[in-house]
Amino acid sequence: MNKYIYFFLIFIIPLPLISQEKVDYFEKLNGKERNVIVNKGTEYPNTGKYNKHFKDGIYHCKACDSPLYISSSKFESNCGWPSFDDEIKGAITRHSDYKLGYKRVEICCAKCGGHLGHVFEGEKLTPKNIRHCVNSISLVFKKKNVK
Ligand SMILES: [Zn+2]
Repeated sequence: MNKYIYFFLIFIIPLPLISQEKVDYFEKLNGKERNVIVNKGTEYPNTGKYNKHFKDGIYHCKACDSPLYISSSKFESNCGWPSFDDEIKGAITRHSDYKLGYKRVEICCAKCGGHLGHVFEGEKLTPKNIRHCVNSISLVFKKKNVK
């Protein structure tokens, strides 16, 4: 009898716990995307396709398609990466990052955990005084009138 209980505990219970979501979201990424989104890399400045991109629409997460930023919050910061001064509520999570020896705030997609970039406050670039510095490769832009 015990043997069957162990079988149940080991093989049956973990199945729903292994969330397919996280695994699948990153599985379809190519090497370059994976380097930024999964391994928290940074694309070279002024190379991303959305750096100078200013159209009406929504920027979604490349990995899981969750909507992250509305185009009206995008602004030209001349920092070399797409910059936003606001996020879609609840779409982004923030984490302390000391990789460069000082504290930065890493931003990730709240749904899949994919790396987006960093957020900087107090630069006085916009009235909201915040800059989400996001890798283009972490994003997919969708026009407003197209679902
Ligand atoms: Zn995501």
